[in-house]
Amino acid sequence: MNPILPGATLGVLGSGQLGRMFAIAARRLGYRVHTFSPDDDTPTGQVADLEVQASYDDLDAVRRFAQSVSVVTFEFENVSSAATAAAAEFAPVRPSGGILHITQHRLREKTFLRDQGFPVTPFEVVNSLDALPRAIAEIGLPAVLKSAGFGYDGKGQALLDENTDLATAYARAGGGECVLEAFVDFDCEFSVVAARGLDGGFAHYGAVENEHDRHILDITTAPASIPAEAAREAIEITRGVLEALQVEGVLCVEFFLENSGRVLINELAPRPHNSGHFTVDACVTSQFEQQLRAICGLPLGCTSLLRPAAMANLLGDLWAQGEPNWAAALALPDVKLHLYGKAAARSGRKMGHLTALAATAGEAAARVRHARALLAPS
Ligand code: AMP
Repeated sequence: MNPILPGATLGVLGSGQLGRMFAIAARRLGYRVHTFSPDDDTPTGQVADLEVQASYDDLDAVRRFAQSVSVVTFEFENVSSAATAAAAEFAPVRPSGGILHITQHRLREKTFLRDQGFPVTPFEVVNSLDALPRAIAEIGLPAVLKSAGFGYDGKGQALLDENTDLATAYARAGGGECVLEAFVDFDCEFSVVAARGLDGGFAHYGAVENEHDRHILDITTAPASIPAEAAREAIEITRGVLEALQVEGVLCVEFFLENSGRVLINELAPRPHNSGHFTVDACVTSQFEQQLRAICGLPLGCTSLLRPAAMANLLGDLWAQGEPNWAAALALPDVKLHLYGKAAARSGRKMGHLTALAATAGEAAARVRHARALLAPS
């Protein structure tokens, strides 16, 4: 198959920061980028050649969009199968709509992983409040009740223990179809971002450690300080997942490391991931360039880490007292600032991130925390 070469136009469904960083990588390589979403003046649209504003359910608009590009990829996961199928009539969709269909729904994803023999947290399906006690009897307490579809960053989740009122918890998880998961008493959370090319080639960025705050990624440190055996196992699991799903593109596997040393998959994201943002400043090839190479049928790039690094998310909360003190953080020479061009700084909204480079991962994490603390206006 002929590769899609520089000069061609690439289509992105979705228009957030992931699309923006993809578009920046694509433009650097001499490609054009079109983006499609219901919004305008978006993070991706601001740097794309064309911003199409239409509903994902407007299948004719999706078809017209696909006709204008050489390949369609996505940065937003909750695009319907009808929309990806409409796009696929006119351009290859990479990764495929089938992968999106599995990974956008927690229950389908967990069932797929379990059936393929990958290690996942024990879970039970809960279709009604009445079904919850039986699921609890199977899984035990504490447990986490999650909506089966369309949840992210901890939205639609409830922690259950002996004292929890089940009706309140079920409502908090969104009601409807849910998954009850055993609560994992983990040592740490980590992830592996990897890519699979059209020729089946595989490249990964190693295991990186993730700390969450209010269920939202807060700090990523690369490399992860986990036992080498756990990292090796996670990388092999990631390779297996990309192979099983026949991914053409980038996919992130998020893991729990249990106290026992066992590695469990938490969830998948079939695209570049927040925990891979450090690759822009710290790796030979960023996760966004890697996605481009994979979907265009080009050779995958070198993933080597140039220096240990850490990334800190900048949420809208940082703006609560006024404009952050950018100059203070930028005065630190090994700290890089990324802002996504979002006008409204809402609480919990990802507005940008900082990446710090240092001689060790621990130093990088300390440096990025320090830099972020300097941002808060005094
Ligand atoms: P999720 O949206 O499922 O990735 O959940 C967001 C965060 O909630 C995770 O990154 C964990 O910090 C926490 N969490 C989710 N599921 C579990 C679980 N089964 N056991 C312990 N913590 C969990």
